[in-house]
Amino acid sequence: MLPVIALVGRPNVGKSTLFNRLTKSRDALVANLPGLTRDRQYGQAKLNGQPFIVVDTGGIAGDEEGIDDLMAKQSLQAVDEADIVVFMVDARTGMTAADEYVAEQLRRQQKPVILAVNKVDGVHAEAAIAEYYSFGYSTILGLAAEHGRGVSALIDTILDNLELTPVNEEEQTIEELQARGVKLAVVGRPNVGKSTLINRFLGEERVVVFDMPGTTRDSIYIEMERRGKPYTLIDTAGVRRRGKVKEAVEKFSVLKTLQAIGDSNVVVMVMDAREPITDQDLSLISHVIDAGRSMVIAINKWDGMTEEQREEVKVEIDRRLGFVDFARIHFISALHGSNVGHLWESVDEAWESALIEMSASQLTRLLEQAYERHQPPAIKGRRIKLRYAHPGGHNPPIIVIHGKQVSKLQESYKRYLINFFRKKLNLIGTPIRLETKEGD
Ligand code: GDP
Ligand code: GDP
Repeated sequence: MLPVIALVGRPNVGKSTLFNRLTKSRDALVANLPGLTRDRQYGQAKLNGQPFIVVDTGGIAGDEEGIDDLMAKQSLQAVDEADIVVFMVDARTGMTAADEYVAEQLRRQQKPVILAVNKVDGVHAEAAIAEYYSFGYSTILGLAAEHGRGVSALIDTILDNLELTPVNEEEQTIEELQARGVKLAVVGRPNVGKSTLINRFLGEERVVVFDMPGTTRDSIYIEMERRGKPYTLIDTAGVRRRGKVKEAVEKFSVLKTLQAIGDSNVVVMVMDAREPITDQDLSLISHVIDAGRSMVIAINKWDGMTEEQREEVKVEIDRRLGFVDFARIHFISALHGSNVGHLWESVDEAWESALIEMSASQLTRLLEQAYERHQPPAIKGRRIKLRYAHPGGHNPPIIVIHGKQVSKLQESYKRYLINFFRKKLNLIGTPIRLETKEGD
């Protein structure tokens, strides 16, 4: 499981600013909680090589009524799900009643807390920090999130506190990964048909669902076999935990979904053909790509739609899902089982692509071909020379390109190269990472 950091504090202390800095994301996943002025945001971060999930809580204002109360509850729930809390206060305003309220709330939850005194730019940092000694935290840091000051010390402190020994999947050999079988996460918004699909996978007819109050960060893992091959289904919908009666749909948990993506090899992203594609669908897909996971897209509930409706859905997909051109899209009916077999084939294909064995000579030859066909534009009159390429890892495949000025390659040219390699190596379903190295 990926460690989870919660950013907590009253509004305006700089939580979002720090969140953006840690995740560098334009694309946070927002938990849709109607009635909130500001929702929780979830993002992925890699801190000194260790992947994390960061949660920016809505904020705890102190005088908890109405919306504020709901927001505070949400914040505290985020604390409950976190491994470590970064409690942020504002050096410019100094301690407020709301800060004391937050401290009091945090004291009730037994979580490691780092107190970050933000906005120490332009104030006497030590004095500002000293004001908060009375909270009694052993770890207090000065921070200027907006300017990046103190952020790397904060990251070091987080890693120290969690005593993490990073498990590096990329270091597992291809044989080890193959032997274990595919870990397959089934993700998507509520009601798109995840449970129905999982039951279909498991060969069961009946969908059994009941409500699990509250969110948990843990999915259910189901071992299964298909045509003699082992798979582990990562069930974010909670099919197996559910009893015998379908009562209500389980709450959607962004955190659970991100954990499932992080722990999977291949993601089946399920969408409902009868609903418009939402921003939440798109950001889920972006998170799969960011995490470097292979993906197959299932457009579900394809049964009982008219030709005209189907045509409309396809147009919408072309328009909005163009950025995931590497993933196969299947139009399925989880309810009736149509096309589910093809979905499995794409899952296997995506995992094979993620684990492809490439050689330096093969990649260099392809690089030369790509270069011949289309050369990168010069940067300030100087030519960019691409010399050779070699594999840099698998799951997802990494291609390392050496050359002169290669670090200046334009994004559009990198995309061209990735597409060229993808086509020639027949890599379908997996993202491809391109790395550049200056010199020979
Ligand atoms: P949040 O409500 O806790 O998420 O706070 P925001 O991240 O939205 O920040 C609130 C305000 O503080 C914004 O105007 C930020 O530009 C400002 N801010 C955030 N970090 C810093 C900092 O390090 N120094 C200064 N001077 N301002 C900051
Ligand atoms: P989840 O919340 O993503 O797990 O969604 P469920 O599997 O609980 O399905 C939500 C609703 O959609 C249920 O009423 C299902 O019967 C229905 N459903 C699921 N798959 C299909 C399908 O392929 N076709 C149709 N027509 N309905 C479906």
